[in-house]
Amino acid sequence: MLAPGLLADGAELEKVADGAIWAEGPLWLPDEQVVIWSDVVGDRILQFDPATGTRSVRRSGVEHTNGRCFDAGGLIVQCCHGRRALERVLADGTIETLADHWNGVRLNSPNDVALAPDGALWFTDPRYGITQPGEGHPGVVEYGDHFVFRVDPDGTLTPVATDVVMPNGICFSPDGSLVYIADSSSAEDGAGGGTRTIRVYDVDGGRRAKSGRVFAAVSRGIPDGIRADAEGRLWASSAAGVEVFAPDGTALGILEVPETTANLVFGGPDGHDLYIAATTGLYRVRTTTRAASSS
Ligand code: MG
Repeated sequence: MLAPGLLADGAELEKVADGAIWAEGPLWLPDEQVVIWSDVVGDRILQFDPATGTRSVRRSGVEHTNGRCFDAGGLIVQCCHGRRALERVLADGTIETLADHWNGVRLNSPNDVALAPDGALWFTDPRYGITQPGEGHPGVVEYGDHFVFRVDPDGTLTPVATDVVMPNGICFSPDGSLVYIADSSSAEDGAGGGTRTIRVYDVDGGRRAKSGRVFAAVSRGIPDGIRADAEGRLWASSAAGVEVFAPDGTALGILEVPETTANLVFGGPDGHDLYIAATTGLYRVRTTTRAASSS
């Protein structure tokens, strides 16, 4: 149960679309009034039109895309496991590579991305797309770690957080002074190690993540995609569903989802609908809040 006041009166979770193998990376497109999301393993991008209630395939053979956001110019930026890249989708559908190498070697498999207030794109680079069957292509970790990177508008690529074991979801606080990064390292650790925590950092001059500390831990499974709302709360995906935390990290309850949740996004005509990518399905619930402008 979520704390009172987070969901609209009478709101109920509904499954609005299905058919994915592993749903990730939802994004509401205001210009088209649709939600798109990744079927990472199915290697396609799906689309749901709430006006007609129909699901369609937006694009297939996409090299296993994952998380996405808008850039400062309003174009879609997406993480791509198969190409081990962060890429931009131009207006005509052409894919432009924003980053795929660092220090002369390939990135691992960019997982999720967020737009910083200064127009830079921050993305996480765990190894799932080169180690998990079906999520990309087998490969090795060429730079020997799993970093969070910043790509400046001029293309410069810089590590901004290097102390997250397995960085996954990422978002900024409403004023951009904080960045939240989910650590999903317990996912691969059969011995019960790793963490299921969400870390928070000060954004130092817009350039680096500093003074990292644990913000919260999810109750079950791992934290994957995360989003801040306009009031500075954090909405986090987990095996339980969607777990919400106050700005000080206090748990505000769980919206239980029937399937393991990987990511989420606020959207809909007025921004109050929460769309949830959870394994096979896309779910929706009506909230009383909306996205933080910079999340
Ligand atoms: Mg993810």
